[in-house]
Amino acid sequence: MKYDYLVVGAGLFGAVFAHEAACRGKRCLVIDRRPHIGGNVYTEEIEGIHVHRYGAHIFHTSDQEVWDYVNRFAEFNNYINSPVAVYKDELYNLPFNMNTFSKMWSIRTPREAKDIIEKQIEDLAIREPSNLEEQALSLVGRDVYEKLIKGYTEKQWGRDCKELPAFIIRRLPLRFTYDNNYFNDRYQGIPIGGYTAIVRKLLEGIEVRTGVDFLDEREEYGSLAEKIIYTGMIDEYYGYQMGALEYRSVRFETEVLDCDNYQGNAVVNYTDKEVPYTRIIEHKHFEFGRQEKTVISKEFSSEWTVGDEPYYPVNDQKNSELYAKYQELAACEGNVIFGGRLGAYKYYDMDKVIRAALDLVFNIF
Ligand code: UDP
Repeated sequence: MKYDYLVVGAGLFGAVFAHEAACRGKRCLVIDRRPHIGGNVYTEEIEGIHVHRYGAHIFHTSDQEVWDYVNRFAEFNNYINSPVAVYKDELYNLPFNMNTFSKMWSIRTPREAKDIIEKQIEDLAIREPSNLEEQALSLVGRDVYEKLIKGYTEKQWGRDCKELPAFIIRRLPLRFTYDNNYFNDRYQGIPIGGYTAIVRKLLEGIEVRTGVDFLDEREEYGSLAEKIIYTGMIDEYYGYQMGALEYRSVRFETEVLDCDNYQGNAVVNYTDKEVPYTRIIEHKHFEFGRQEKTVISKEFSSEWTVGDEPYYPVNDQKNSELYAKYQELAACEGNVIFGGRLGAYKYYDMDKVIRAALDLVFNIF
C-alpha cells in the first residue's frame, strides 16, 4: 500500500493527526470534500479582513499542552471575547456578570445581585435540574433566563428549553465580578494570520487533495492506505443505516458594509425570539482591524437536512442512543478510526479537538 494513513477531512483533528503521524515517519494522504483545507476553522480574506466562513472561532483553553502546541504553529493576539446581548431595546454584557446584573436591576454590589437571584431561585424550588430550562433557572433565576437565555437558546436549537440537555448552558460562566470575559480559560486569542494558516503549517510536506469526496470514491481511496482516520459524519459513513443523527445547521448572511465600524464589537447576540437571527459577527474586531470597510455575518440557525453543513450535534438522549449504535459498528472496524466533531458526534471546542487528536496519536504510537 502507498500510504500508512488516509486522513479523511482536513480540519483541525485530521491536520493534527496527519502532522504527528508524518513526524513519526508515517506516510499520510489527507483528503477533503471541500475545495479548501481547514474544515470549519477556515477563514477567507474579504476586504483585508479574515472572515470566519463557517462561524466565529475563538481559541480558548486551560490545557497548557494544547496551548503550547498551537503556539508552535501561530502567534496569538490578545483578543478577549466579550459579547453583548440585545434583548428588544435593552443591551446587556455577557457572560452573566455584575455588569449584566447592575443593568438589569439597577443595583451595584454582588450582595444585592446574589439576593435577587437567590430569591428567584428559592421561589422556583427546583431540586435536581433535569433539562436546560431547569438548569438555567436554578443558576441565574427567572429574569436572566427570560431575557438572555430562553429566546436565544430556542432559536439556536429549534427546541423548547425543557427538551434540551442541561450541559449546554453549563458552558456559560456566571460570576459576581465586573468581568465581561466570556471564557474562564487561562489562555485565549485569535491566531494572527488566520486559522487556515495554522492548518496549512500542520499539513506542510504532507500530500493533500481537496475536492475529493471519500464516500464517492470509497473503493479507490480505501485501498490506498493501511488505516483510515475518518473525521466526517459517522452516520453518513454508514449510509445512515441506523437512522440519521440530528444536527443544527447555520445559514450565514455575510455582507460587506461601507463603514469602518458597524456594531462596535465582534459578537452581538440577539436574545429575543422576534429577531430571526441569533447573532451578528463583525469579523474585523477579532483582530482589532482598521480597514475602511467592514464585513458582518448574520447567523440563522436551522435544523440540518441532508446536503446542509452540519454544525452542532444535538447531544440529547435520543441522539446519544443512536450514536452509541454507530459506535458499536465502528468498534468492529479493523482499520477505520473515527474522530473530530463529526466523527465523535461531540459539541467540541477547538482545544478539545486538538486534545482528542493528540490523545489518539499517543494511543496509536
Ligand atoms: N446562550 C444563551 N444566550 C446567549 C448566548 C448563549 O442562552 O446570549 C446559551 C445557548 O443555549 C447556547 C449556549 O448558551 O447554545 C452556548 O453558547 P455559546 O456561545 O458557547 O455557543 P457557540 O459559540 O458554541 O455557538
